[in-house]
Amino acid sequence: MTGRRETLRAFASHRSPRYTSYPTAPHFHTGVGSDVYGNWLEQLDPGEPVSLYLHVPYCRTLCWYCGCNTRATTKPEPVAAYLETLMDELALVADRLPSRMMISHLAMGGGTPAILTPGQIDRLMEHVRARFDFAEDAELAIEIDPRHFTREDAEALGRNGFTRASTGVQSFDPAVQAAINRVQPFELVEAAFNRLREAGVTRINADLLYGLPKQTVESALASAEAAAKLNPSRLAVFGYAHVPHMMAHQKLILEEDLPGPATRIAQADAMDHALRDEGYRAIGIDHYAQPDDPMTVALDAGVLKRNFQGYTTDKARTMIGLGASAIGENPSGYIQNIADVRSWRMAIGEGQLPVARGVAISAEDYLRRAIIERIMTDLTVDVVAVANAQGLPAPDFDVSELEAAGIVTRFGTCLAINPAYKPLARLAAAAFDAYLATGPVKHSVSV
Ligand code: SF4
Repeated sequence: MTGRRETLRAFASHRSPRYTSYPTAPHFHTGVGSDVYGNWLEQLDPGEPVSLYLHVPYCRTLCWYCGCNTRATTKPEPVAAYLETLMDELALVADRLPSRMMISHLAMGGGTPAILTPGQIDRLMEHVRARFDFAEDAELAIEIDPRHFTREDAEALGRNGFTRASTGVQSFDPAVQAAINRVQPFELVEAAFNRLREAGVTRINADLLYGLPKQTVESALASAEAAAKLNPSRLAVFGYAHVPHMMAHQKLILEEDLPGPATRIAQADAMDHALRDEGYRAIGIDHYAQPDDPMTVALDAGVLKRNFQGYTTDKARTMIGLGASAIGENPSGYIQNIADVRSWRMAIGEGQLPVARGVAISAEDYLRRAIIERIMTDLTVDVVAVANAQGLPAPDFDVSELEAAGIVTRFGTCLAINPAYKPLARLAAAAFDAYLATGPVKHSVSV
């Protein structure tokens, strides 16, 4: 065990992308804009389903650990104005599609999309239904904040067909909650779970964090055990990324309160053991799911995917991203919307798709993306089999350093991550990233 933790510590500070896309977001460029994206939308296969992602970048208060594109507001006006523009963008995009299309998956994220009032959720979903059909087994998911979630909010989700909700839990330790400006006792989170279930939103995810200020191994473990008591169908366990040079509000977190690398690893280990003891299956590098959850079923079938929302069972090749800073993907490439709300609104007001940048995907990108996706989801890949399936030669790669450290094993044409080192899977994925050396930004640490 000691040897393993030392190896994890040695490699933990190696920086690499989280591979929620390939090519990764730093390689998007302004050569892909509104016109290119419009052509891509027109070329979509009308017989294929699409997924929709709706971004709402507002929260009631700011959590000091937050790494999202969001802002705090207590006033209803900015959110109401944003919603109007979001519905205008929906219409603009729908006008460019080859026909009325079918949605297999809808996700609302942010920020806190559940900041919309019940009436606003009704209106938004009415607009979506006016322009799209929903597949019978479509999943409709939304992120909620348990501190601001009433029975009426839950009922609006239920009557609009939402099937899944994600709740930000992070930690139940009062000292940690105070240090991150997110005070929410267990009973409050439990009440949100109950409201969701009573309203028919029965699949609930919970997000937990380790590496938070004032967090100990014992409190991380206790939070994982308490979260499991709420019986969520999925949990995500992320390491807090402290990047105050990029996220100014993180300066409110005192560096001396942050646990060091060894404690972070011990926290992640303790939470991993607790959740697996509670019957959850480990998924990829940082997720857990109940054995009968569609994510576990997809993992066992070898069809689990990874996109900007993390791991997903969504099979659609096209994700239409709506809202300021939203990212979308389709068979031609990726796009990202303008992040500044005022500029995003202005573009839509002028009848333009509000695209800031993007990147086209080449055949070689597809191959590398498929290999990286299998590493990040299954922790193993048959490189030659994936290449053969795409009719391309297998790319060269070098994982000798990881192999020498026991982090990966190569056998025949396969590569496997030792499960004990799953947080380092992204380092193996990086061996297939043809753009990494040209990247302009630093990535987060691996553990
Ligand atoms: S509620 Fe979520 S999105 Fe909003 S500030 Fe907190 S962590 Fe960030």
